[in-house]
Amino acid sequence: MSDYEEIIYTYKNNVYLNITNKCPCACTFCIRSKTDAIGEASNLWLNHNPDFDEVKKAIDNFDFSNCKEAVFCGYGEPTNSFDVLIKSAQYLRSLGIKTRVNTNGLGSLVNGRDISKELCDNIDDVSISLNCSNKEEYLKTVRPKFGIESYDAMLDFAKKCRAYTPNVALSVVDVIGDEEVAKCQKIADKLNIPLRVRKYSG
Ligand code: SF4
Repeated sequence: MSDYEEIIYTYKNNVYLNITNKCPCACTFCIRSKTDAIGEASNLWLNHNPDFDEVKKAIDNFDFSNCKEAVFCGYGEPTNSFDVLIKSAQYLRSLGIKTRVNTNGLGSLVNGRDISKELCDNIDDVSISLNCSNKEEYLKTVRPKFGIESYDAMLDFAKKCRAYTPNVALSVVDVIGDEEVAKCQKIADKLNIPLRVRKYSG
């Protein structure tokens, strides 16, 4: 397999970009700990984190003609390769391809600066993992390396993104149970951000 196939993969008719394997979290439900790939990919563990030129080559080698949207989501947190993420999104936009990023919302902590505006300016849809209704549960489930401040940082990031774009969503996985989903819905409502409840696929 070439690096190109590992950078771009398809899953349920969607096209995904896997631009990094770095992530500041170790979510208990993360698929990375269970299998080396999902969808049409055979291995999403990159042998190195690609630079923009490599991602661009992967994009140039992929047929996007049936694709409405490219999603930055792979075996790592896309904002961990923020420069590559932004340049790739700009390049995809120049080709007329819409973009979405699935992020854990900790990108400002990762990059040591507020990245929310730059992200929202360059990506069409931002989906942020809310995961839990409180910081204690979040710490146990997401296990972020930044510790207890992470939950509030993620919420603050979501709030900032919402100020820059209406195209932001929060997400939870249904495995947390109805009661917890209802609490997360209240948090999302307060932020005026829609909540997506995803099916657990682990
Ligand atoms: S944030 Fe995403 S990539 Fe990182 S551990 Fe959690 S589920 Fe896995």
